[in-house]
Amino acid sequence: MAKRQRTAAGAGAKKKCTKKAKRKLDQLLTPSRHVESADAAHDPNRGPLIEFPVASAGSKKSKSTKPTESTKRVSGASRKPAKHWSKLPNESLLDIPMRELGLSIEGTPLEKMQQTLYSELAARALKLRPHCWLSDEWFAPDGIPGIAIPFYLAHPKLIRLERQQMLDVEGGTRAWCMKILRHEAGHAFDTAYALHKKKRYREVFGSYSKPYPEFYRPKPHSKNFVQHLEPWYAQSHPAEDFAETFAVWLKPGNRWRKDYAGWKTMKKLELVDQLMAEIVGQPMKVRSRRQIDPVSKLKKTLREHYEQRHQRYAINYTTSFDEDLVRLFQPPETKHSRKAATFLQKHRNEFCRTIAQWTGEYRYNINQVIREMIERCRGLDLRIEKPDERLKRDTMIMMTVHTMNYLYRGNHQVAL
Ligand SMILES: [Zn+2]
Repeated sequence: MAKRQRTAAGAGAKKKCTKKAKRKLDQLLTPSRHVESADAAHDPNRGPLIEFPVASAGSKKSKSTKPTESTKRVSGASRKPAKHWSKLPNESLLDIPMRELGLSIEGTPLEKMQQTLYSELAARALKLRPHCWLSDEWFAPDGIPGIAIPFYLAHPKLIRLERQQMLDVEGGTRAWCMKILRHEAGHAFDTAYALHKKKRYREVFGSYSKPYPEFYRPKPHSKNFVQHLEPWYAQSHPAEDFAETFAVWLKPGNRWRKDYAGWKTMKKLELVDQLMAEIVGQPMKVRSRRQIDPVSKLKKTLREHYEQRHQRYAINYTTSFDEDLVRLFQPPETKHSRKAATFLQKHRNEFCRTIAQWTGEYRYNINQVIREMIERCRGLDLRIEKPDERLKRDTMIMMTVHTMNYLYRGNHQVAL
């Protein structure tokens, strides 16, 4: 999802909203190979990852089979020679400094997606083409109308590493990546034309200069916001609200008029429509083409990068599940031979996928909730009598409640 961090003021400060995640590398669960394909049926954001043939010099481009936008696998990396690290095991790959990865957007599927974004802007007669570069995460810098794209999207090996490390690959499908690009383009237009300084913007979206909250408490049923990157992201800050609204407006087909008919947020969409009509032919107020933290300058190794990410997402998560677990499962005195921990472990991916689908929470976070539950089940040596559908259903409900409690306790982190 598009992230924008408001940290220190001034041009170049990264804007990146982050979802929380928790725990350290050694506590991460190993993701299942089955997760992606099963998710694809439910959530276009979590469909098949962008996969490209492993680069090799002189190999042919893969054939187009005209898949849909949400399921399309992207090819194109084959135009570039293979990277020296592409065959390394992950443990060795992690020791490579990011700037030595030799990555660029050119020749990757990202290049085409950038062009698609530009075509969509051209179709609206808009002049700005936000420049894009690879960095360590998605963000739109303060005062620079450009888009930083995470490095891992430039190589299939790195996409797999990202998934192994974070369980989610943000922007990892073509549809998801386009959504984020449109969102970040919203920030770029906001910056380039100083739209947030307009009275109408402030009246409709709120104050752009309002500090980003550390946490926000979304209202799931609010009709005052578009629903785009994830159900409630627009609610996190006026700048995000604008970017999300812009992204919905920009998507080809003008579906917003129909999709949001009768919603209060229509006034926001109409304002974006008006503002975009007004800036056609107007000069930009900010034209900087600077790149912040380009991957070619990042000295940290991939290992350091992921350690930072795990640290950054770390929060103190100390929920006690014991009461519910004891109600749901049997005590050791019953001497049932089946362990509750084994039952949870066996169905973990299914639980995780379903809860992610309905709560919009990152799988990484849900996995941590489940992992903690498994640990507590082990600690309490809980048992089950029979692993039937009813037990599965009750377990899923209990996990969902805990995930939602976690969300509503105010832990929905936006920015650091
Ligand atoms: Zn944003």
